[in-house]
Amino acid sequence: MGTAPNARGACGPAGRGGATFTRSLTTSRTRWAMPWYPATKNASPAFAGGGPEWTGTGRKRSSSAAPCSRQEKIKFGGTVLAVQVRSDVWRYRLDNRTHSHTGYNVFLEGEAAGVEGRFSVAISERQQQSRRILAGDELVGTAWTKLHPKREYADYYRAGALRVTRSAPEPGVAAREPWTGEVEPLATYAERGCRMLDARRYRSKCFRCKWAAMANVIVEYDFGVSQRLRHESFCYGPKSCGLYKMGRPRKVPYKGMDDLYDEGWIDEDSTAHRDWDD
Ligand code: SF4
Repeated sequence: MGTAPNARGACGPAGRGGATFTRSLTTSRTRWAMPWYPATKNASPAFAGGGPEWTGTGRKRSSSAAPCSRQEKIKFGGTVLAVQVRSDVWRYRLDNRTHSHTGYNVFLEGEAAGVEGRFSVAISERQQQSRRILAGDELVGTAWTKLHPKREYADYYRAGALRVTRSAPEPGVAAREPWTGEVEPLATYAERGCRMLDARRYRSKCFRCKWAAMANVIVEYDFGVSQRLRHESFCYGPKSCGLYKMGRPRKVPYKGMDDLYDEGWIDEDSTAHRDWDD
C-alpha cells in the first residue's frame, strides 16, 4: 500500500480537518476515524458538534483558506455505507438560505489511495443514474483530492471509472425510517426542500437515509468581503418521520451583528408545500 496523498503534499482527508488519524501516516495500515460514520469511536473533536458553528468546536473558518496547491488522482474501492445528496448552501443573515444540489456523496469503507479506512467520494448525478449505487454495493473507481479541502465535505471528488463489482445482497430494499432505498433525482430534492437536522442524529440514526445530507455551507459574513465555511446537516424526508430532530438553532454570523439564529422558520417555509407524510 502506498502513502496517503496528503502525506505527499496533495490534499486528502486530513486536509479537511475532520479526520482523526489513529495511526501514523507512515504505517502501512493507517486508519482514520471519519466523523460522519455513526460507529466511530474516535470521532474527531473538530466534528464533535457536527458542523454548525454554535458548537464552539473551532469549525468556524475563513474562506481565505488557500486552495490546495496540488491535486492528485487516486484509486479507491470498498463497500458503500450510504449515498446522500451533495449540496452547497449559501447563507446570508437570516432571510437567505439557498440550496443547490450538485450530485451525491458516496460513503465507503475500504481503501483509498492505499489507505484503509472510511472515506467519501463525490459523484455526479449522471454517474449515479447509470450505476444506481446502493448501500451494500462493492464499488471501485478513481477520484481526485480536493482543490478546496475546507469547503468540500467529501474526501475526494471528480470521480471516474466507477464500477460496481458486486451488488448489495438485497438491492432495492426500501426500508423506512431511515429510508435506505436508492437516492432520488436531484430535482426531487430541490423540489422537496429540507429542514435542519440535528448533527448527532445525522451521524447516528439518519446516516444511511437517502433523505439525509451534509451540506457544504458558505456563510456570507461581510457581504462581498469575507465568508465563513462550515458543514451542516439537513433532512429532505417526510415531516412525519419519527427520527427527526431539528437540534439547536444555528447561528448565522454577520459582521457587527449578534444573535442571528436560524430557528426553523426557513425550514417551515421551504417545506410548506408538502403534507405531513410527503
Ligand atoms: S429524520 Fe430525515 S434523514 Fe433522518 S431518518 Fe427521518 S427522513 Fe431520514
